[in-house]
Amino acid sequence: MAKSATKTEWKSRAVTRLIEAGSMTECLHCGERVKFKARERHMQVICNVYVDGNWDRVEHFHSACYEEAGSPHGDPGEWKSSRG
Ligand SMILES: [Zn+2]
Repeated sequence: MAKSATKTEWKSRAVTRLIEAGSMTECLHCGERVKFKARERHMQVICNVYVDGNWDRVEHFHSACYEEAGSPHGDPGEWKSSRG
C-alpha cells in the first residue's frame, strides 16, 4: 500500500441540527422517521461517513438515539454545551 504524505484525511463526523419541516429520513438506530414536530424543537444528528478517505453516505439519528448507539461517529459538534 502506497502512502501519500500530503493527503488530507477525511474522517467521519457528526453534527447536531434541528429537525427541519419536511424531513423524510429515518433514524439508523431505531428505524423510525426523524420527524419534524411543530411545537417541539427536536434535534437530529447528521453524520457524514467517510470510508477510506472518501465520502460514502449520510446517516441520520435522533439525537437521543445517537447517544444510545454510543456516538459511532464521534461527538456531534454543536451538542455539547446545554444538557440538563
Ligand atoms: Zn431514533
